[in-house]
Amino acid sequence: MKKKTLEQVIQKLPYRCPYCDQPISYGQFNLKVGENAIKCPSCKKTYIKLVAPSLTEGDHGSRRQ
Ligand SMILES: [Zn+2]
Repeated sequence: MKKKTLEQVIQKLPYRCPYCDQPISYGQFNLKVGENAIKCPSCKKTYIKLVAPSLTEGDHGSRRQ
């Protein structure tokens, strides 16, 4: 059974703050397709996170069952 939700996809994104190298949890942000301003909770600097459309479409050809 494949269960793929938007939340899970976001949490899988491997990303770290480009400034302090701190792992960022995207669950706290409302990511949208395109550019997202992410403020690092550790160093308080802001950077732009690009989100591809395919990453935000949770169900990719499969329906929730
Ligand atoms: Zn940082």
